[in-house]
Amino acid sequence: MSCLFCKIVNKEIPANIVYENDHCLAFRDIAPQAPTHILVIPKVHVDRHSNIQDPASLTLIHQAVLDIIKQENIQDYRLVINNGSEAGQTVWHLHLHILSGRPLSWPPG
Ligand code: 5GP
Ligand code: ZN
Repeated sequence: MSCLFCKIVNKEIPANIVYENDHCLAFRDIAPQAPTHILVIPKVHVDRHSNIQDPASLTLIHQAVLDIIKQENIQDYRLVINNGSEAGQTVWHLHLHILSGRPLSWPPG
């Protein structure tokens, strides 16, 4: 499997991991866009949000987010999923961004 995030799941390449359970892994983004920028991914490969087969997997990802914000003492935050290149997706393994620690403008660019 040549997928970058699958390699991180399999510990074939290093990442700054902040959280892990049976279903999800979370690690710090290599190019943070905010003081806190964490990526939460399912351990099972899914290339993009629109190809999720089992919607219940989203509940597991959100449970991980809730665990992480408690663990990291994050108060205000933004959750982002970029689905497709026009939306800004660059890594083709589903991931949810947690952005926090600075004022975030709206609408996004
Ligand atoms: P996307 O643009 O697909 O929504 O988000 C991909 C994110 O993955 C980007 O924010 C990018 O900085 C991050 N990223 C890309 N390669 C790596 C890597 O090797 N390690 C980590 N920790 N983050 C990465
Ligand atoms: Zn993958």
